[in-house]
Amino acid sequence: MACNICPRNCHIDRAAAAGFCGCSSVVRIARAALHYDEEPCLSGTRGSGTIFFSGCNLKCIFCQNMVLTDGTLGEVFSVPRLVETMLMLQTLGAHNINLVTPTPHRDALTEALRLAKKQGLSIPVVYNTNAYESVETIRAYDGLVDVYLPDLKYVDPRLSLKFSKASDYFDTAIRSITEMFRQVGPMCCDADGIAIKGVRIRHLVLPGCVYDTRAVLDAIKAHFGTDCPISLMSQFTPIPECTVKPLDRPLTAREYESALDYCMSLGFTDVFTQDLSSVGRSFTPPFSDHVEL
Ligand code: SF4
Repeated sequence: MACNICPRNCHIDRAAAAGFCGCSSVVRIARAALHYDEEPCLSGTRGSGTIFFSGCNLKCIFCQNMVLTDGTLGEVFSVPRLVETMLMLQTLGAHNINLVTPTPHRDALTEALRLAKKQGLSIPVVYNTNAYESVETIRAYDGLVDVYLPDLKYVDPRLSLKFSKASDYFDTAIRSITEMFRQVGPMCCDADGIAIKGVRIRHLVLPGCVYDTRAVLDAIKAHFGTDCPISLMSQFTPIPECTVKPLDRPLTAREYESALDYCMSLGFTDVFTQDLSSVGRSFTPPFSDHVEL
């Protein structure tokens, strides 16, 4: 069947060949574990039940999880194994099931989520995405996903083309995030501060690109209002594979403070921030071809 799951619209038969995302018709998982490096509303005290999918439809040249982007690393999971893994993470005490880069795996995931819920999955399901999604694919998750965690990476098409091979990133991401808001509204938390429903938009401040961060914040305010929960991330870390300037150096304290000042000046009411000790710190967990859980 010709794949049109995401805006790349490869129209290839993934049973015969991998698409732009690197994914064939099988689902590969490179890690499934309790994870403590997400925002406190997701990690809480017991961890986020994170499932890392192999393959990605953006191919950002600065990606911290670069080993996953070509879709070859990881163990093949059937739908029943996915269900079993979600239920196991719940048994281990996870606050949520956190699906990281799930985009190419819509058909297996929607089936697995339906089955897992029938078999007792009751914790929130988090869809953790680069937001380069088709609206139809996000609609397929209506009623299955509780929390959406989309990036909004760029406004400037020159940046999204150069860094992620997607000149139409901004318009596409805004449309998909609008559908996420239609389904679940802005993020809300329980009495312990743990996310139970809604959208939180993430933005990673890139070195030399604070002008675009300002444009991203302006766009969030214009489209979703100042009540929109935001995570403004400082954790950009240059990787050896990327020598493209200015992504070959860390973010400076001055750049992050400038982004943060602008965010606050716009009047956002729910902003998760990182301190500058996050700069250069590795948030990349160990990935493997053998998932132990
Ligand atoms: S999910 Fe992968 S194969 Fe399908 S359209 Fe997107 S990039 Fe292409």
